[in-house]
Amino acid sequence: MKIIRELTNLKDKKVLLRVDFDVALENGKIVEPFRILKQKPMIDWLVEKEAKVVMIAHLGKKGESFSDLIPQLHMLLDQEIGFIKKVEDIGEYLKNYSGPGLVENIRILPGELENSDELAKKLTAAGKFNIYINNAFAVCHRKHASTLAITDFLPSYAGFLIEEEVAKLQKAIEAPKERKVLIMGGAKASTKIPVIKNLLDKAEKILLGGVIANDFLKEKGADVKNSVVDENAHELLAGLDLADPRLVMPDDFVWSDNKILDIGERTTEKYAEIIKSAKMTIWNGPMGFFENSDFANGTNAVARFVASSLSYKITGGGDTIRVINQLYLSDKFDFISTGGGAMLIFLAGGPMPGLEALNYPVISRNGSNN
Ligand code: ADP
Ligand code: MG
Repeated sequence: MKIIRELTNLKDKKVLLRVDFDVALENGKIVEPFRILKQKPMIDWLVEKEAKVVMIAHLGKKGESFSDLIPQLHMLLDQEIGFIKKVEDIGEYLKNYSGPGLVENIRILPGELENSDELAKKLTAAGKFNIYINNAFAVCHRKHASTLAITDFLPSYAGFLIEEEVAKLQKAIEAPKERKVLIMGGAKASTKIPVIKNLLDKAEKILLGGVIANDFLKEKGADVKNSVVDENAHELLAGLDLADPRLVMPDDFVWSDNKILDIGERTTEKYAEIIKSAKMTIWNGPMGFFENSDFANGTNAVARFVASSLSYKITGGGDTIRVINQLYLSDKFDFISTGGGAMLIFLAGGPMPGLEALNYPVISRNGSNN
């Protein structure tokens, strides 16, 4: 395991830094800067060491460009950031500028999603880099060229944020399951249902909400009418005992247009009681369609109950973080992970190829030696 802090002489060393700037945008404006701010210590440290930094990152799902985001990044990071339009321009950038540069959305490039050696080689050669640092915990569950293939071509290190995420989430895994409460909402059944299966034996209760709860209710035979459900939920739920008392379902709802859009008051109270006596709470995913304030009560109430509980509080996920910050509750949490899917997979002991490639950490995550 290579510790980045132990590298003392980084002056003029060329560093390829994988960061996570994948933030929600509205009309081109960053609505939640949390992930960007969490990159600042690593960038500042490298700048202070006079390393020459080229950052790679992805943005959105539709091939969004970083070009218009540069002024906002500059403000948030309190640091001028150069924009590098093409991988071919990296060498020229390093020759002409000493400040950190950001390469255009890496997911636009052929080979990123395929974990291609070609792309990794091309990146390495373009900057004649000395080292690679992965500081993007939120993509460490992915096998991508910028998280995995690249580590075969450059001496590779875990950045500060990865160190922090792993240390804090490890603590959640090691905590006894007694009075450990997991609150799981939001959508994305394909990530979340396997995690629920894996964590069922490692928690005392799992409270369900959001689309995930709809999936469970439908599978149990409830009439969810036109509610949003995941089309693969039936397959994903196979093998899970839906009557397991550790799985706690909502039992009243806020309906609109024949859709369940929030948990109801009785459910909120039931969840509050469980959260109150928890020793550790891990929360991911809103309880309803919180973007519309008519359906945000359940989510906001859960956020406040968790925040005011005496438990050790861990949370993560883009939408969940947005809720917490909107309510000014972020200070109340012991740890806010930049990872949504990555946090859940890490907690469930699932594969984290991006971490494993850094040999970091090879400690067992609750019986799994991934
Ligand atoms: P996170 O980003 O915190 O991991 P997800 O992305 O999994 O959370 O889920 C958040 C999304 O789920 C939000 O857009 C929210 O509106 C949606 N959602 C939650 N509950 C419902 C529901 N009952 N019906 C429709 N959408 C819902
Ligand atoms: Mg989300």
